Amino acid sequence: LVAAVAAGALLLSACSGGSTGGTGDGGGDGGLIGVAMPTKSSERWIQDGNAVKAALEEQGYTVDLQYAEDDIPTQVSQIENMITKGAEALIVASIDGTTLTEVLQNAADSDIPVIAYDRLIRDSENVNYYASFDNFLVGQQQAWSVLNGLGLTELDGTAIAGAPAGPFNIELFAGSPDDNNATFFFNGAMDVLQPLIDDGTLVVKSGQTDFQQVATLRWDGETAQSRMEDILTATYSDGTQVDAILSPYDGISRGIISALTDAGYAVGAEWPIISGQDAELDSVKAINRGEQYATIFKDTRQLAQVSVDMAVALLNDEEPEVNNTTDYDNGVKVVPSYLLDPVIVVKDNITEVLVDSDYWTADEVAG
Ligand code: BGC
Repeated sequence: LVAAVAAGALLLSACSGGSTGGTGDGGGDGGLIGVAMPTKSSERWIQDGNAVKAALEEQGYTVDLQYAEDDIPTQVSQIENMITKGAEALIVASIDGTTLTEVLQNAADSDIPVIAYDRLIRDSENVNYYASFDNFLVGQQQAWSVLNGLGLTELDGTAIAGAPAGPFNIELFAGSPDDNNATFFFNGAMDVLQPLIDDGTLVVKSGQTDFQQVATLRWDGETAQSRMEDILTATYSDGTQVDAILSPYDGISRGIISALTDAGYAVGAEWPIISGQDAELDSVKAINRGEQYATIFKDTRQLAQVSVDMAVALLNDEEPEVNNTTDYDNGVKVVPSYLLDPVIVVKDNITEVLVDSDYWTADEVAG
């Protein structure tokens, strides 16, 4: 798949005839593409924005890249401005997937195609394509990484013979309820964890298992930290230990780690197994230090390339390549999608997955 994406990129660069293009409509003639990203407060979106911008410029386009600092009206007006400035296409990673219906109608009225980037845009027929990762698989991988840390399964979920019987105390965290991905991650994780909760191997001692109870608005680390503090006080003051925490995102994991440290947990035998997502640098270091057990790496360079290939194809009146036409119903229609494969990262494969692929350098990831 990586090879296919890379080959696609090569093919497209070969066709564009160099970085300034000049081959007419949609041929990278310097036309403007609007790129709307949610926030700079998380490293991954900075990597995404830079990678999309670079890939578009490589094709000869001009890029209006905007970050909205997780403020919905700001994102709406940024997209409105892109339309006014004459953007030929929009690539949008939404903050709240349900709030762009009106502005995307304006885009459609001006015949501007829209690619939903990473997060599905809901409640609009004016979303042409969706570029993302297999989000249900991300959730399964987060759960498998937790089970692996507890010694119950391999990283691919295969049971380990002679594994400990438990029971293990686990607490659950989910992402932002207005982000379509959050439900996919949680459902994927619960697909793996629920049978083990049902047979008593895992115990959610707080009793908080519904998505709405465990969701974290705007994926905010401090919100997660205070929920973890509340759980530790209310549920684990009796001397019992929390053994594992399902966390959907590295920033949330860092909040959870702070709560545990403040409550007197120390890295070592009793430190809980904690999952994550995005391979953010601070969290990769935390994995090296043994504070976080795993993260899910989603190569933003590949995602950027897929979304740019989609936009360029549309501008050239070609059909973008997709590999999923069933799973992403946005409430109005099923949006044709290209889903990339996520990869589990634990301490042992940091070098192989993140350093050898030039995502981070060996110096950067050193704990
Ligand atoms: C992305 C994740 C990210 C989260 C928080 C989700 O939509 O898919 O990669 O961890 O947002 O930024």
